[in-house]
Amino acid sequence: MKLIFIGPQGSGKGTQAKMIAEKFGLCHISVGDLLRKAKGKIKEEIDKVMNAGKLVPDEFVEELLLKKVSGNGCAKGYILDGYPRNVKQLDFFEKNFDVDKVFEISISDDESVRRILGRRSCSKCGAIFNVNSFPKPKVDDVCDNCGGKLIKRKDDNEGALRKRLGIYHRETERILKMHDFVKIDGEQDIEKVFEDIVKVLG
Ligand SMILES: [Zn+2]
Repeated sequence: MKLIFIGPQGSGKGTQAKMIAEKFGLCHISVGDLLRKAKGKIKEEIDKVMNAGKLVPDEFVEELLLKKVSGNGCAKGYILDGYPRNVKQLDFFEKNFDVDKVFEISISDDESVRRILGRRSCSKCGAIFNVNSFPKPKVDDVCDNCGGKLIKRKDDNEGALRKRLGIYHRETERILKMHDFVKIDGEQDIEKVFEDIVKVLG
């Protein structure tokens, strides 16, 4: 089973990808994780680019992806979480693999903004919470785990978010035109979203 999960920030696609991967014994591949966990020479190259504040070139991501999907852990299949992000990446992927299903976990821009602006992280232990969605801290500004102060990320402001959403829609619409996809209502409860995806996969 080879699946692609697409969705805007705050859609919960990462959470769903993890849950679905567990249920069906698939690997959950997030490009962010791949980049963070890269080793050896490619890791040095990636660090160099990222420290310079530049985007990681597609070739690096492609190399890491090819290695990962052909590894032992992915024998039963995989879920790509947050990749491809644009038509060029989809092209690369389809040339090398066949994709069984594309899921779009859809939420409105307003809901995306609401959820992202609700994100808080603990200044002491780094735990992540969300005052507008999940997991909600018992007290708005206090970490459930250690009592530390919860803080907002600087780049989580509405203007920047709307801009990122604009880019997301432009690229995603082009991807979804090239490929059949199943649209899932991501504004439902986590369990309901999960059920809807499972139903499609049979
Ligand atoms: Zn904490």
